[in-house]
Amino acid sequence: MSFAFDNSFARELPGCYVKWQPERVPGPSLIFLNRGLAEELGLHLDHDTTALAEMFSGNRLPAGAEPIAQAYAGHQFGNFSPQLGDGRALLIGELVDRLGRRRDMAFKGSGPTPFARGGDGKAAVGPMLREVVIGEAMHALGVPTTRALAVVATGESVYREAPLPGANLTRVALSHLRVGSFEYHAARGDQAQMRRLADYAIARHDPALAGTDTRYPDFLRAVMERQAALIARWIGLGFIHGVMNTDNMSIAGETIDYGPCAFMEAYDPKAVFSSIDRGGRYAYGKQPDIAQWNLARLAEALLPLLAEDQDEAIALATDVINDFSVRYRHHWLTVMRTKLGLAAREEDDGADDLALAEDWLALLHQSRADFTLAWRHLADAAAGNPAPLRQRFTDLPALDAWLARWQARCAADAAAPATRAGAMRLANPWLIPRNHLVEEALTAASEANDFAPFERLLEALARPCEERAGFERYAAPAPASFTATYCTFCGT
Ligand code: AMP
Ligand code: MG
Repeated sequence: MSFAFDNSFARELPGCYVKWQPERVPGPSLIFLNRGLAEELGLHLDHDTTALAEMFSGNRLPAGAEPIAQAYAGHQFGNFSPQLGDGRALLIGELVDRLGRRRDMAFKGSGPTPFARGGDGKAAVGPMLREVVIGEAMHALGVPTTRALAVVATGESVYREAPLPGANLTRVALSHLRVGSFEYHAARGDQAQMRRLADYAIARHDPALAGTDTRYPDFLRAVMERQAALIARWIGLGFIHGVMNTDNMSIAGETIDYGPCAFMEAYDPKAVFSSIDRGGRYAYGKQPDIAQWNLARLAEALLPLLAEDQDEAIALATDVINDFSVRYRHHWLTVMRTKLGLAAREEDDGADDLALAEDWLALLHQSRADFTLAWRHLADAAAGNPAPLRQRFTDLPALDAWLARWQARCAADAAAPATRAGAMRLANPWLIPRNHLVEEALTAASEANDFAPFERLLEALARPCEERAGFERYAAPAPASFTATYCTFCGT
């Protein structure tokens, strides 16, 4: 097998990685293959499954692969580790896809590297299929995300609280550059390496800035802008990443590292599911502030590049980081207007629409309404059927008062009701990966070797905005007893 790899990171950034090989696995079997993504990458995977399993396990790498473990640092739950790095991941190579975009192909779970810090370097079937499900759901919802190309069960056990079937995931990303990649060189005071890394990131992600005098502050601003847009999308869908450490924040602006993430059911800004996030640092509603905090860490790392004069560098960095609030508000308002079925209005500052959205969210909170279905039923209300919506609220007079305001605002736009409802249904999915169904699918796959629920779930999530017969159970909220005790684990 041979892929058209072009490994720019390995070529251009010695000192940012170590060359390393995946560990051999005893009994590889292919349990997931993303044919659509393979196609996008221009890969012709018409080999038998044994050959594919050998390849995606790492036992037999395609020609042109140059596996490396990338070095990075990171703030984890606020505490700085100067050296993390790919402990169980390897960048296998880069491909230029059919749209001309450079994409990383990387393994996760391919054995311990020099960055493993005592970890086993392995991954289990359940968490890797979880990364498949949530990533594919995010992709279908139009949210920038890394995606899974393949998962291989390795035929060996990995030990967490109990022995679990082991797996190796192949992940595709616009890059694996993170905030922590820059923190790594900052911690070592290695400005030359930092400059090389920044110029590499600029050439790859912001090529219009390459070679300009203001490229470093402009790059910081571009990363900030991508994150502001991304977090607004998460917030619009009730997504909680769960472990927004700086080593899990992508420079390319993709959602990356699906560990203890979850989608919220009842609307609650304080919602948190991760077992290790006891303080709620990464709660749903905290995500914009955390993104800004992480960007401030990136700004600090880049400081020596921003300007020769330190005060000037600090002023430039502060400007960008403060602007996150403005840009986030802009993206959030855009997301909310789209979900509310309202056209953007350039002539006003958005304060009225912002208040309308906030008051709606306050109603959702008060009624503990299912976030996804409440929005979906608002689209039904736009089409002239408010009954399903009214069923989800406890304070009906308050809901009706809000609906009257919303309808008055809708009337200011030209769209016909059916057009508005159609647009709203594209912005307010019928299906999200509900936690109980994700768990059900992963348990069947991991414990009973039964992949049917996983495949059916993927089929459902591939078209999240269409109300298709036969998929009704995927739209229904989890039993309250499930959500009350649901907890996601980082020990992936
Ligand atoms: P994560 O929480 O998956 O983003 O990982 C944080 C850091 O821990 C990264 O440096 C990972 O490479 C490393 N890591 C996580 N799990 C393992 C493992 N089982 N073996 C080795 N390193 C790991
Ligand atoms: Mg990570």
